[in-house]
Amino acid sequence: MDLLGLTRDEMRELMRSLDAELFRADQILNWLYDRQVTDIGEMRNLPDGLRRALTERGWRAQALAVALTRSAGDGTERYLFALADGESVEGVYLPEKKRQTVCLSSQVGCAMNCRFCATGQTGFVRNLSAGEMVDAVRQIGRRKQKRISHVVVMGQGEPLANYDNLLKALEILKAPYGLNISARHISISTAGLVPQILALAKKGFQYNLAVSLHATNDELRSSLMPVNRAYPLGDLHDACREYASATGRRVTLEYIMIRGINDSRKDLEGLIAFAKGWLSHVNLIPFHSVPGSQWTASTRATIERFLDDLQRAGIPATLRRSRGEEVLAACGQLRQETIMSNKH
Ligand code: SF4
Repeated sequence: MDLLGLTRDEMRELMRSLDAELFRADQILNWLYDRQVTDIGEMRNLPDGLRRALTERGWRAQALAVALTRSAGDGTERYLFALADGESVEGVYLPEKKRQTVCLSSQVGCAMNCRFCATGQTGFVRNLSAGEMVDAVRQIGRRKQKRISHVVVMGQGEPLANYDNLLKALEILKAPYGLNISARHISISTAGLVPQILALAKKGFQYNLAVSLHATNDELRSSLMPVNRAYPLGDLHDACREYASATGRRVTLEYIMIRGINDSRKDLEGLIAFAKGWLSHVNLIPFHSVPGSQWTASTRATIERFLDDLQRAGIPATLRRSRGEEVLAACGQLRQETIMSNKH
């Protein structure tokens, strides 16, 4: 069991159950997040009896271990984490001058089965626990000796399909006793689970929401993203608007541009119609080939036409920066490569 998955209230509850003083909870949180220890034995100001009791009951101060890292020339680093049950999951570190971002996974594998995604091809294995998500961020910061300022939950998995664990992990990541990351610096990326978007809107948190749109007619979107059959574009549009108006936060619409698939004049008109008139922002992403894919990216001229016309229609639109693009677009590939090499 992971101490890292406990909120402050739960940590105090644990102390109560062990007949320990309540201030021990804050001491443990300090060891976990300020000093970032990975072993209960290192929590030197705890009484021996409490450290023993925690260890004997199976509590631990580390939820996952770094199994593999891969660096790009620009400082971006991909991590493969080994989980206690033998599974693995990825994380990515993206350093910039003023921000240190971690791209976090929320599940081992993913059930959404999007056609353009490496993770979707390996299937769903399990949800990550809150402790595993928190520790992935903590361990990257620890290794880089940096304070992580931003988190994007855009790695493997559909975060909103792991709703309770995700919310708990984010609560700990933003708490002053945890990693103290501002909610406005945390982004959740979803394939479009409408009930969870609406539930999250009601909570009133300041998290940024990014929705993988990628098509603006139901037939095409259902073929690219099977989730669209359950939650078609009309419902998704309403949910996005609701999230924006409830939180006052601009919702990002992610649009991967695939040549000859979703980059026609009609697609552009559909995208403008979807994004216009509310607090949205469109992020265009040139398609990045995954192994075995028959698709390629839209041409530069097409991408620029999309960008210009969106902006002319008064919709904030950006082209994903090239920095880290390779790493982010390749979400799931490190794990997939490892699974493949283990098979041979
Ligand atoms: S794009 Fe995201 S939601 Fe779709 S299969 Fe990949 S990880 Fe899952």
